Amino acid sequence: MTAGGNSDISRVRAHIDIRALKNNVATIRRIVGKSKISAVVKADAYGHGLENICHAIDDVVDGFSVARVCEGVALRRLGTSLPIWVLSGCMSVDELGEIERYELSPVACDLHQIDLLRDSSVSEKVIIKVDTGLGRFGISTTEATELLRHPRWLKEATVILSHLSDADNLASKKTKAQIAEFNSITNKSPIQKSLAASAGLLAWPNSHFDWVRPGIALYGVSPFLGKTGADFGLDPVMTLKSAVVSIRTLAKGRSIGYGGEWICPERMP
Ligand SMILES: *Cc1c(COP(=O)(O)O)cnc(C)c1O
Repeated sequence: MTAGGNSDISRVRAHIDIRALKNNVATIRRIVGKSKISAVVKADAYGHGLENICHAIDDVVDGFSVARVCEGVALRRLGTSLPIWVLSGCMSVDELGEIERYELSPVACDLHQIDLLRDSSVSEKVIIKVDTGLGRFGISTTEATELLRHPRWLKEATVILSHLSDADNLASKKTKAQIAEFNSITNKSPIQKSLAASAGLLAWPNSHFDWVRPGIALYGVSPFLGKTGADFGLDPVMTLKSAVVSIRTLAKGRSIGYGGEWICPERMP
């Protein structure tokens, strides 16, 4: 049987709930207390639409984070005056021009990037990334300790940042070790610190520091297996709606789909 003619099957719609988004920012704010929020809006705000999301929360967050320079440029052009962190940093001299022009805050992920940015007009906005165990980006603990010991061009506004590798695994010992390592590098320095993304801010209070960087939680999704956003007071921001295109009748024992993962326990429907 095919669904009736009153449904328009070409209309698949993603509904974006701005009230839910604002609720999630407020919930995150309650959880992190005095820590500032850099809202992660990379990948078109996780598919929710950069423009709408930016306009909706520009006055309730403290900054934004994106992955790439081109995303930062697009975001600045929307009119925000908040700090925009570019998480993968500056990849070329061409990008440096854009970073300066649009007053972006590049995350310096290695000593080469630090050198490139040190002499630029955005040197005050540079964020230093240190690798405390994810093994993806960032200078080593030794390099970071050395840099902070001789803070030549580091300003009070400078942020030092790291990223947790196992924060979504509540049983893992790694997160505690990463927090301890981050503390040992930074605790004598007055510069600002940022470690937690969604899982860190929801489950590891010691990871909050000066700035948290929520992505997935902002959109109402839990980063933990077996827990939902609702378990943390988060509301889903996106709802996908479509039309039923086909209703089938299948006998007991027939399977459905690739690999036959679902078996009809009776004649259905
Ligand atoms: C993507 C990203 C985030 C946000 O992560 P969520 O798990 O979605 O909260 C934070 N920090 C960095 C460095 C990221 O790359």
